[in-house]
Amino acid sequence: MPYFTDTQLAMRDAIRRMVDKEIRPIAAQIDATDTIPPHIFDLFGDMGLMQLWVPEEYGGPGGDLTSVCMAREEISRVSEACALIAGQNSIGVILPLLHFGTEEQKKRFLPLVAKGRTLTAVAMTEPESGSDVASMKTRAKKDGASWVMNGQKCYITWGNIAHWVLVFARTSGEKGFQGISCFLVDTRSAGFKVGKNEKKLGLNGVPNVTLYFDNLRIPAENMVGEEGRGFIACMRILDMNRPTIGAASVGVAQGALDAALEHAKTRKQFGRPVGHFQGLAWMLADMAMQVEAARALVYECARQVDAGDFSRLSELASMAKCFASDMAMKVTTDAVQVFGGAGYMKDYPVERFMRDAKINQIFEGTNQIQRIVISRHLLGLH
Ligand SMILES: Cc1cc2nc3c(=O)[nH]c(=O)nc-3n(C[C@H](O)[C@H](O)[C@H](O)COP(=O)(O)OP(=O)(O)OC[C@H]3O[C@@H](n4cnc5c(N)ncnc54)[C@H](O)[C@@H]3O)c2cc1C
Repeated sequence: MPYFTDTQLAMRDAIRRMVDKEIRPIAAQIDATDTIPPHIFDLFGDMGLMQLWVPEEYGGPGGDLTSVCMAREEISRVSEACALIAGQNSIGVILPLLHFGTEEQKKRFLPLVAKGRTLTAVAMTEPESGSDVASMKTRAKKDGASWVMNGQKCYITWGNIAHWVLVFARTSGEKGFQGISCFLVDTRSAGFKVGKNEKKLGLNGVPNVTLYFDNLRIPAENMVGEEGRGFIACMRILDMNRPTIGAASVGVAQGALDAALEHAKTRKQFGRPVGHFQGLAWMLADMAMQVEAARALVYECARQVDAGDFSRLSELASMAKCFASDMAMKVTTDAVQVFGGAGYMKDYPVERFMRDAKINQIFEGTNQIQRIVISRHLLGLH
Protein backbone atom coordinates (compact mmCIF):
# COMPACT_ATOMS: atom_id res chain seq x y z
CA MET A 1 0.00 0.00 0.00
CA PRO A 2 1.53 3.38 -0.97
CA TYR A 3 2.17 5.99 1.70
CA PHE A 4 -0.67 8.48 2.11
CA THR A 5 -1.00 11.40 4.53
CA ASP A 6 -3.77 11.49 7.14
CA THR A 7 -5.52 14.21 5.13
CA GLN A 8 -5.45 12.08 1.99
CA LEU A 9 -6.73 9.03 3.87
CA ALA A 10 -9.56 11.10 5.36
CA MET A 11 -10.47 12.32 1.86
CA ARG A 12 -10.43 8.75 0.57
CA ASP A 13 -12.73 7.58 3.38
CA ALA A 14 -15.15 10.44 2.77
CA ILE A 15 -15.26 9.60 -0.94
CA ARG A 16 -15.78 5.92 -0.15
CA ARG A 17 -18.74 6.73 2.11
CA MET A 18 -20.26 9.03 -0.50
CA VAL A 19 -19.79 6.47 -3.29
CA ASP A 20 -21.37 3.67 -1.26
CA LYS A 21 -24.35 5.83 -0.33
CA GLU A 22 -24.97 7.83 -3.49
CA ILE A 23 -23.46 5.98 -6.46
CA ARG A 24 -23.48 2.25 -5.71
CA PRO A 25 -27.30 2.07 -5.65
CA ILE A 26 -27.60 3.73 -9.08
CA ALA A 27 -24.41 2.57 -10.86
CA ALA A 28 -26.23 -0.06 -12.94
CA GLN A 29 -29.00 2.40 -13.74
CA ILE A 30 -26.45 4.99 -14.94
CA ASP A 31 -25.06 2.34 -17.29
CA ALA A 32 -28.48 1.16 -18.51
CA THR A 33 -29.92 4.63 -19.09
CA ASP A 34 -26.67 6.19 -20.31
CA THR A 35 -27.29 9.12 -17.98
CA ILE A 36 -25.59 10.44 -14.88
CA PRO A 37 -28.23 12.30 -12.83
CA PRO A 38 -27.42 16.05 -12.49
CA HIS A 39 -27.36 15.87 -8.68
CA ILE A 40 -24.19 13.72 -8.87
CA PHE A 41 -22.32 16.60 -10.54
CA ASP A 42 -23.52 18.97 -7.80
CA LEU A 43 -22.52 16.48 -5.11
CA PHE A 44 -19.03 16.17 -6.60
CA GLY A 45 -18.79 19.96 -6.82
CA ASP A 46 -19.81 20.34 -3.17
CA MET A 47 -17.14 17.82 -2.13
CA GLY A 48 -14.47 19.60 -4.17
CA LEU A 49 -14.06 16.63 -6.50
CA MET A 50 -14.77 18.50 -9.74
CA GLN A 51 -12.11 21.07 -8.97
CA LEU A 52 -9.59 19.13 -6.84
CA TRP A 53 -6.46 20.69 -8.32
CA VAL A 54 -7.54 24.34 -8.09
CA PRO A 55 -5.09 25.93 -5.60
CA GLU A 56 -6.39 27.42 -2.36
CA GLU A 57 -5.34 30.94 -3.43
CA TYR A 58 -8.04 30.71 -6.15
CA GLY A 59 -10.62 29.29 -3.75
CA GLY A 60 -10.09 25.60 -4.58
CA PRO A 61 -9.27 22.59 -2.40
CA GLY A 62 -5.56 22.71 -3.34
CA GLY A 63 -5.26 19.06 -4.32
CA ASP A 64 -2.44 17.38 -6.19
CA LEU A 65 -1.88 14.40 -8.46
CA THR A 66 -2.06 11.90 -5.60
CA SER A 67 -5.43 13.21 -4.45
CA VAL A 68 -6.86 13.21 -8.00
CA CYS A 69 -5.63 9.60 -8.42
CA MET A 70 -7.15 8.60 -5.07
CA ALA A 71 -10.49 10.14 -5.99
CA ARG A 72 -10.53 8.51 -9.39
CA GLU A 73 -9.58 5.10 -7.97
CA GLU A 74 -12.20 5.18 -5.22
CA ILE A 75 -15.06 6.20 -7.49
CA SER A 76 -14.02 3.75 -10.23
CA ARG A 77 -14.39 0.85 -7.78
CA VAL A 78 -18.10 1.40 -8.27
CA SER A 79 -18.54 3.53 -11.41
CA GLU A 80 -15.75 4.48 -13.77
CA ALA A 81 -18.18 6.78 -15.59
CA CYS A 82 -18.76 8.89 -12.48
CA ALA A 83 -15.03 8.89 -11.73
CA LEU A 84 -14.43 10.75 -14.97
CA ILE A 85 -16.19 13.80 -13.49
CA ALA A 86 -13.50 14.00 -10.82
CA GLY A 87 -10.61 12.95 -13.04
CA GLN A 88 -10.79 14.89 -16.24
CA ASN A 89 -12.37 18.00 -14.79
CA SER A 90 -9.67 18.36 -12.16
CA ILE A 91 -6.90 18.27 -14.74
CA GLY A 92 -7.94 18.92 -18.36
CA VAL A 93 -8.32 22.70 -18.27
CA ILE A 94 -7.04 23.53 -14.80
CA LEU A 95 -3.44 22.35 -15.31
CA PRO A 96 -2.72 24.08 -18.65
CA LEU A 97 -4.11 27.29 -17.14
CA LEU A 98 -2.07 26.94 -13.96
CA HIS A 99 1.16 26.33 -15.85
CA PHE A 100 0.77 28.43 -19.00
CA GLY A 101 -2.17 30.76 -18.39
CA THR A 102 -1.71 34.48 -17.80
CA GLU A 103 -2.46 35.84 -14.33
CA GLU A 104 -5.57 37.47 -15.79
CA GLN A 105 -6.78 34.10 -17.14
CA LYS A 106 -6.16 32.39 -13.81
CA LYS A 107 -8.03 35.09 -11.86
CA ARG A 108 -10.92 35.06 -14.31
CA PHE A 109 -11.32 31.33 -14.63
CA LEU A 110 -10.00 29.37 -11.63
CA PRO A 111 -12.25 30.95 -8.95
CA LEU A 112 -15.18 30.07 -11.22
CA VAL A 113 -14.12 26.41 -11.45
CA ALA A 114 -13.42 26.41 -7.70
CA LYS A 115 -17.15 26.85 -7.05
CA GLY A 116 -17.70 23.28 -8.28
CA ARG A 117 -20.36 24.02 -10.84
CA THR A 118 -18.18 24.39 -13.94
CA LEU A 119 -17.68 21.42 -16.22
CA THR A 120 -14.82 21.46 -18.72
CA ALA A 121 -13.72 19.42 -21.73
CA VAL A 122 -10.60 19.04 -23.85
CA ALA A 123 -10.98 18.82 -27.65
CA MET A 124 -8.10 17.47 -29.65
CA THR A 125 -9.26 14.42 -31.64
CA GLU A 126 -10.73 14.82 -35.14
CA PRO A 127 -12.27 12.24 -37.49
CA GLU A 128 -9.00 11.95 -39.45
CA SER A 129 -6.62 12.85 -36.64
CA GLY A 130 -6.46 10.50 -33.64
CA SER A 131 -3.09 9.08 -32.61
CA ASP A 132 -1.52 11.34 -35.23
CA VAL A 133 -2.61 14.47 -33.37
CA ALA A 134 -0.28 16.71 -35.34
CA SER A 135 -2.35 16.12 -38.47
CA MET A 136 -5.30 18.08 -37.07
CA LYS A 137 -7.16 20.29 -39.56
CA THR A 138 -9.15 22.62 -37.29
CA ARG A 139 -7.84 26.12 -37.92
CA ALA A 140 -8.02 29.49 -36.23
CA LYS A 141 -7.22 32.75 -38.02
CA LYS A 142 -6.51 36.06 -36.34
CA ASP A 143 -9.08 38.76 -37.05
CA GLY A 144 -8.55 41.99 -35.10
CA ALA A 145 -8.85 41.32 -31.39
CA SER A 146 -10.11 37.79 -31.83
CA TRP A 147 -9.51 34.46 -33.53
CA VAL A 148 -12.00 32.83 -35.88
CA MET A 149 -12.09 29.04 -35.68
CA ASN A 150 -13.41 26.53 -38.21
CA GLY A 151 -13.27 22.77 -37.99
CA GLN A 152 -14.54 19.70 -36.24
CA LYS A 153 -13.61 17.51 -33.25
CA CYS A 154 -15.01 14.09 -32.32
CA TYR A 155 -15.55 11.83 -29.29
CA ILE A 156 -15.26 14.81 -26.97
CA THR A 157 -16.04 13.82 -23.39
CA TRP A 158 -18.66 16.13 -21.80
CA GLY A 159 -18.59 18.20 -25.03
CA ASN A 160 -22.37 18.75 -25.03
CA ILE A 161 -22.67 19.80 -21.38
CA ALA A 162 -19.31 21.46 -20.70
CA HIS A 163 -19.27 25.17 -19.96
CA TRP A 164 -15.74 25.62 -21.31
CA VAL A 165 -13.72 23.57 -23.77
CA LEU A 166 -9.96 23.71 -24.28
CA VAL A 167 -9.70 23.43 -28.08
CA PHE A 168 -6.52 22.79 -30.05
CA ALA A 169 -6.29 24.32 -33.51
CA ARG A 170 -3.68 25.12 -36.12
CA THR A 171 -2.84 28.82 -36.20
CA SER A 172 -0.04 28.80 -38.77
CA GLY A 173 1.03 26.86 -41.83
CA GLU A 174 3.88 25.19 -39.94
CA LYS A 175 3.85 21.41 -40.09
CA GLY A 176 3.64 18.92 -37.24
CA PHE A 177 3.20 20.04 -33.66
CA GLN A 178 4.58 23.49 -34.40
CA GLY A 179 1.87 25.99 -35.17
CA ILE A 180 -0.85 24.38 -33.05
CA SER A 181 -2.35 26.72 -30.46
CA CYS A 182 -4.74 26.22 -27.62
CA PHE A 183 -7.92 28.18 -26.84
CA LEU A 184 -10.36 28.35 -23.99
CA VAL A 185 -13.77 28.35 -25.67
CA ASP A 186 -17.02 29.43 -24.04
CA THR A 187 -19.57 26.87 -25.24
CA ARG A 188 -22.30 29.55 -25.33
CA SER A 189 -20.46 31.30 -28.19
CA ALA A 190 -22.15 31.61 -31.58
CA GLY A 191 -20.57 29.12 -33.96
CA PHE A 192 -20.06 26.42 -31.31
CA LYS A 193 -22.26 23.51 -32.38
CA VAL A 194 -22.78 20.07 -30.89
CA GLY A 195 -23.32 17.04 -33.15
CA LYS A 196 -23.76 13.31 -32.61
CA ASN A 197 -23.57 11.81 -29.11
CA GLU A 198 -21.94 8.37 -29.55
CA LYS A 199 -23.44 5.08 -28.36
CA LYS A 200 -20.63 3.18 -26.64
CA LEU A 201 -19.46 -0.21 -25.36
CA GLY A 202 -18.97 1.15 -21.86
CA LEU A 203 -18.50 4.33 -19.84
CA ASN A 204 -22.21 4.86 -20.29
CA GLY A 205 -23.54 8.03 -18.73
CA VAL A 206 -20.58 9.97 -20.09
CA PRO A 207 -21.45 11.83 -23.30
CA ASN A 208 -18.92 11.74 -26.17
CA VAL A 209 -19.89 14.13 -28.90
CA THR A 210 -18.84 15.68 -32.17
CA LEU A 211 -18.20 19.41 -32.01
CA TYR A 212 -18.35 21.80 -34.96
CA PHE A 213 -16.76 25.24 -35.05
CA ASP A 214 -18.43 27.41 -37.62
CA ASN A 215 -16.71 30.80 -37.76
CA LEU A 216 -16.46 30.58 -33.98
CA ARG A 217 -15.07 33.88 -32.67
CA ILE A 218 -12.72 33.59 -29.68
CA PRO A 219 -11.34 36.64 -27.85
CA ALA A 220 -7.54 36.84 -28.22
CA GLU A 221 -7.17 36.85 -24.43
CA ASN A 222 -8.53 33.27 -24.38
CA MET A 223 -5.46 31.80 -26.04
CA VAL A 224 -3.67 29.60 -23.48
CA GLY A 225 0.10 29.53 -23.78
CA GLU A 226 2.13 31.00 -26.60
CA GLU A 227 0.80 31.24 -30.13
CA GLY A 228 1.91 28.19 -32.10
CA ARG A 229 3.44 26.54 -29.04
CA GLY A 230 0.26 25.68 -27.14
CA PHE A 231 0.20 22.07 -28.13
CA ILE A 232 3.71 21.20 -27.03
CA ALA A 233 3.28 23.02 -23.71
CA CYS A 234 -0.14 21.60 -22.93
CA MET A 235 0.76 18.04 -23.88
CA ARG A 236 3.66 18.08 -21.47
CA ILE A 237 1.32 19.05 -18.70
CA LEU A 238 -1.49 16.74 -19.80
CA ASP A 239 0.91 13.82 -19.31
CA MET A 240 -0.28 14.17 -15.72
CA ASN A 241 -3.70 12.89 -16.73
CA ARG A 242 -2.24 9.51 -17.65
CA PRO A 243 -1.56 8.30 -14.09
CA THR A 244 -5.15 9.20 -13.22
CA ILE A 245 -6.32 6.81 -15.94
CA GLY A 246 -4.03 4.26 -14.32
CA ALA A 247 -5.79 5.03 -11.04
CA ALA A 248 -9.21 4.55 -12.65
CA SER A 249 -7.95 1.20 -13.98
CA VAL A 250 -6.80 0.17 -10.49
CA GLY A 251 -10.22 1.16 -9.14
CA VAL A 252 -12.28 -0.74 -11.68
CA ALA A 253 -10.02 -3.79 -11.27
CA GLN A 254 -10.31 -3.61 -7.47
CA GLY A 255 -14.10 -3.41 -7.79
CA ALA A 256 -14.07 -6.50 -10.00
CA LEU A 257 -11.70 -8.35 -7.66
CA ASP A 258 -13.86 -7.54 -4.61
CA ALA A 259 -16.97 -8.84 -6.39
CA ALA A 260 -15.12 -11.96 -7.60
CA LEU A 261 -13.86 -12.73 -4.09
CA GLU A 262 -17.34 -12.43 -2.64
CA HIS A 263 -18.71 -14.78 -5.30
CA ALA A 264 -15.82 -17.23 -4.91
CA LYS A 265 -16.58 -17.50 -1.18
CA THR A 266 -20.35 -17.92 -1.50
CA ARG A 267 -21.02 -19.83 -4.72
CA LYS A 268 -20.84 -23.58 -4.08
CA GLN A 269 -20.25 -26.37 -6.60
CA PHE A 270 -19.27 -29.97 -5.85
CA GLY A 271 -20.14 -29.19 -2.22
CA ARG A 272 -17.48 -26.48 -1.82
CA PRO A 273 -17.14 -22.70 -2.39
CA VAL A 274 -15.76 -22.36 -5.93
CA GLY A 275 -12.87 -20.25 -4.59
CA HIS A 276 -11.54 -23.32 -2.81
CA PHE A 277 -10.70 -24.92 -6.15
CA GLN A 278 -7.09 -24.21 -7.03
CA GLY A 279 -8.03 -23.17 -10.55
CA LEU A 280 -9.91 -20.16 -9.19
CA ALA A 281 -7.84 -19.59 -6.04
CA TRP A 282 -4.69 -18.99 -8.09
CA MET A 283 -6.60 -16.84 -10.54
CA LEU A 284 -7.70 -14.66 -7.61
CA ALA A 285 -4.12 -14.54 -6.29
CA ASP A 286 -2.88 -13.37 -9.70
CA MET A 287 -5.62 -10.73 -9.87
CA ALA A 288 -4.68 -9.35 -6.44
CA MET A 289 -0.96 -9.25 -7.30
CA GLN A 290 -1.61 -7.37 -10.52
CA VAL A 291 -3.86 -4.79 -8.84
CA GLU A 292 -1.26 -4.08 -6.15
CA ALA A 293 1.58 -3.81 -8.66
CA ALA A 294 -0.37 -1.35 -10.81
CA ARG A 295 -1.38 0.68 -7.75
CA ALA A 296 2.27 0.96 -6.67
CA LEU A 297 3.31 2.22 -10.11
CA VAL A 298 0.49 4.78 -10.32
CA TYR A 299 1.15 6.29 -6.90
CA GLU A 300 4.93 6.28 -7.34
CA CYS A 301 4.44 8.40 -10.45
CA ALA A 302 2.06 10.70 -8.53
CA ARG A 303 4.48 10.90 -5.59
CA GLN A 304 7.34 12.05 -7.81
CA VAL A 305 5.20 14.72 -9.47
CA ASP A 306 3.85 16.00 -6.15
CA ALA A 307 7.44 16.18 -4.82
CA GLY A 308 8.25 18.46 -7.77
CA ASP A 309 10.32 15.88 -9.62
CA PHE A 310 9.18 15.89 -13.25
CA SER A 311 12.32 14.26 -14.61
CA ARG A 312 10.63 10.91 -15.36
CA LEU A 313 7.05 12.14 -15.73
CA SER A 314 6.51 11.32 -19.40
CA GLU A 315 7.96 7.80 -19.14
CA LEU A 316 6.36 6.89 -15.79
CA ALA A 317 2.99 8.40 -16.73
CA SER A 318 2.89 6.24 -19.87
CA MET A 319 3.95 3.17 -17.87
CA ALA A 320 1.30 3.78 -15.21
CA LYS A 321 -1.47 4.27 -17.77
CA CYS A 322 -0.44 1.37 -19.99
CA PHE A 323 0.40 -1.20 -17.30
CA ALA A 324 -2.66 -0.44 -15.16
CA SER A 325 -5.13 -0.44 -18.05
CA ASP A 326 -3.79 -3.71 -19.49
CA MET A 327 -4.00 -5.11 -15.96
CA ALA A 328 -7.59 -3.91 -15.54
CA MET A 329 -8.67 -5.50 -18.81
CA LYS A 330 -7.23 -8.83 -17.67
CA VAL A 331 -8.53 -8.64 -14.09
CA THR A 332 -12.07 -7.60 -15.05
CA THR A 333 -12.21 -10.36 -17.70
CA ASP A 334 -11.06 -12.90 -15.10
CA ALA A 335 -13.69 -11.61 -12.68
CA VAL A 336 -16.37 -12.45 -15.24
CA GLN A 337 -14.82 -15.93 -15.44
CA VAL A 338 -14.95 -16.37 -11.66
CA PHE A 339 -18.69 -15.65 -11.81
CA GLY A 340 -19.25 -18.22 -14.57
CA GLY A 341 -22.55 -17.69 -16.42
CA ALA A 342 -23.73 -15.16 -13.84
CA GLY A 343 -20.77 -12.97 -14.77
CA TYR A 344 -22.15 -12.59 -18.27
CA MET A 345 -25.46 -11.32 -16.94
CA LYS A 346 -26.30 -7.75 -16.07
CA ASP A 347 -27.46 -8.76 -12.57
CA TYR A 348 -23.85 -8.41 -11.42
CA PRO A 349 -21.47 -5.48 -11.96
CA VAL A 350 -18.53 -7.46 -13.37
CA GLU A 351 -19.60 -7.37 -17.04
CA ARG A 352 -19.96 -3.57 -16.74
CA PHE A 353 -16.50 -3.35 -15.16
CA MET A 354 -15.10 -5.35 -18.09
CA ARG A 355 -16.77 -3.07 -20.66
CA ASP A 356 -15.69 0.08 -18.83
CA ALA A 357 -12.10 -1.10 -18.36
CA LYS A 358 -11.55 -1.28 -22.13
CA ILE A 359 -11.60 2.49 -22.63
CA ASN A 360 -8.47 2.94 -20.52
CA GLN A 361 -6.41 1.09 -23.14
CA ILE A 362 -7.70 3.49 -25.80
CA PHE A 363 -8.16 7.10 -24.75
CA GLU A 364 -5.55 9.66 -23.75
CA GLY A 365 -3.21 7.95 -26.25
CA THR A 366 -3.71 4.26 -27.00
CA ASN A 367 -1.50 1.72 -25.27
CA GLN A 368 0.40 1.27 -28.54
CA ILE A 369 1.27 4.97 -28.38
CA GLN A 370 2.28 4.63 -24.70
CA ARG A 371 4.65 1.81 -25.67
CA ILE A 372 6.17 4.07 -28.32
CA VAL A 373 6.74 6.76 -25.66
CA ILE A 374 8.27 4.28 -23.19
CA SER A 375 10.51 2.59 -25.75
CA ARG A 376 11.76 5.98 -27.03
CA HIS A 377 12.81 6.84 -23.49
CA LEU A 378 14.56 3.49 -23.14
CA LEU A 379 16.38 3.90 -26.42
CA GLY A 380 17.27 7.54 -25.86
CA LEU A 381 15.17 8.66 -28.83
CA HIS A 382 12.71 10.90 -26.99
C1 LIG B 1 -14.85 7.15 -24.91
C2 LIG B 1 -13.84 8.06 -25.54
C3 LIG B 1 -13.61 9.32 -25.00
C4 LIG B 1 -12.71 10.19 -25.61
N1 LIG B 1 -12.58 11.47 -25.12
C5 LIG B 1 -11.81 12.36 -25.81
C6 LIG B 1 -11.76 13.74 -25.41
O1 LIG B 1 -12.41 14.14 -24.44
N2 LIG B 1 -11.00 14.60 -26.13
C7 LIG B 1 -10.28 14.20 -27.22
O2 LIG B 1 -9.63 15.03 -27.83
N3 LIG B 1 -10.31 12.89 -27.63
C8 LIG B 1 -11.06 11.98 -26.96
N4 LIG B 1 -11.11 10.67 -27.35
C9 LIG B 1 -10.32 10.26 -28.49
C10 LIG B 1 -9.17 9.33 -28.13
O3 LIG B 1 -8.15 10.02 -27.48
C11 LIG B 1 -8.71 8.64 -29.43
O4 LIG B 1 -9.76 7.75 -29.80
C12 LIG B 1 -7.40 7.90 -29.28
O5 LIG B 1 -6.34 8.80 -29.08
C13 LIG B 1 -7.08 7.03 -30.52
O6 LIG B 1 -7.28 7.72 -31.71
P1 LIG B 1 -8.18 7.05 -32.83
O7 LIG B 1 -9.46 6.62 -32.21
O8 LIG B 1 -8.27 7.99 -33.99
O9 LIG B 1 -7.40 5.73 -33.27
P2 LIG B 1 -6.31 5.64 -34.41
O10 LIG B 1 -5.26 6.66 -34.20
O11 LIG B 1 -7.00 5.60 -35.73
O12 LIG B 1 -5.67 4.22 -34.11
C14 LIG B 1 -6.20 2.98 -34.61
C15 LIG B 1 -5.28 1.86 -34.12
O13 LIG B 1 -3.97 2.05 -34.68
C16 LIG B 1 -3.01 2.08 -33.64
N5 LIG B 1 -1.93 2.99 -34.00
C17 LIG B 1 -2.02 4.26 -34.47
N6 LIG B 1 -0.81 4.77 -34.69
C18 LIG B 1 0.09 3.82 -34.34
C19 LIG B 1 1.52 3.73 -34.35
N7 LIG B 1 2.28 4.77 -34.72
N8 LIG B 1 2.09 2.59 -33.92
C20 LIG B 1 1.34 1.52 -33.50
N9 LIG B 1 -0.02 1.56 -33.50
C21 LIG B 1 -0.63 2.69 -33.90
C22 LIG B 1 -3.77 2.55 -32.41
O14 LIG B 1 -3.12 2.18 -31.20
C23 LIG B 1 -5.10 1.86 -32.61
O15 LIG B 1 -5.01 0.53 -32.14
C24 LIG B 1 -11.98 9.78 -26.75
C25 LIG B 1 -12.18 8.48 -27.27
C26 LIG B 1 -13.11 7.64 -26.68
C27 LIG B 1 -13.33 6.28 -27.30
